[in-house]
Amino acid sequence: MLSYQHAYHAGNFADVHKHLTLYAVTDYLLRKKSSITYIDTHAGRGLYPLATKETQRLQEYREGVAPLWQVRQQLSDPLLGKWMASLESAQPQSTVLSHYPGSPWWLAQRLREQDSLRLFELHPGEHEHLSGQALPKQARRVYGDGLLGLKQLLPVATPRLCVLIDPSYERKVEYQEVVDAAAYNLEKARHAVVMIWYPLLPAGHHDTLLSGLEASGIRKIWHSELLLRASAEGTHGMYGSGMVVINPPWGLDEQLSAAMAQVAPLLGSDSHYRAKWLVGE
Ligand code: SAM
Repeated sequence: MLSYQHAYHAGNFADVHKHLTLYAVTDYLLRKKSSITYIDTHAGRGLYPLATKETQRLQEYREGVAPLWQVRQQLSDPLLGKWMASLESAQPQSTVLSHYPGSPWWLAQRLREQDSLRLFELHPGEHEHLSGQALPKQARRVYGDGLLGLKQLLPVATPRLCVLIDPSYERKVEYQEVVDAAAYNLEKARHAVVMIWYPLLPAGHHDTLLSGLEASGIRKIWHSELLLRASAEGTHGMYGSGMVVINPPWGLDEQLSAAMAQVAPLLGSDSHYRAKWLVGE
């Protein structure tokens, strides 16, 4: 029984980290004309009006995207500037932050004629919301299990493949399931760019994911983390956001470091960003 609903967390610091990374990756992929299949294994609703009662309950966007939005005119980093301009284009009134877009939106708005997008969502209510979104014809929504769906789609017909795996990790076993899915993916499509989001929680379950990936035989695994606190000590909830990128585009590390140098100070005095290779070439 799935209970997680992303609307309670839309626009939080983890979304900023995840979607900025996703944006930087797609930016790079779009430099070449050859077609791309995008697969979003855990899509969510696609677009989150911030005024809903779910999002208003925790108002996590106030400590995520909102501080960035407030200073958007002063942000000098080029990646952040472009990302903010896209975010502005998602607003019915461009000067008011009233909606936060989820991964289906970030991917769909950059689809070209030659590209395609598959969006998987297993929660019936969340899938219904997703079905209500206007999406380009190259995007297909599937009501079903994302990791199974990914497996069934491989290998894809396009020369390039970009995958986002962003589970809710309601079940601990998902950390291992993600490792297995990534290993299968890379076996079938060696050059795929695969992104995996993970939470940093005091229980440290993400160690299973990182050590599993390290032992999987996959090469070129890079990861970055945006942390709200210096350590997990004394914290109860999520204190950081992690993003694995397998086969990261050239220059991603530098681009994100520069952008995050402007993002992290806006999230609090202890907030910081770090990135490194988990497995090299
Ligand atoms: N990727 C979205 C974004 O960035 O806007 C957020 C996704 S949210 C963290 C995780 C979503 O995965 C939830 O909507 C949940 O219902 C869905 N989900 C959970 N298990 C799933 C599964 N096995 N297959 C597909 N979707 C699943």
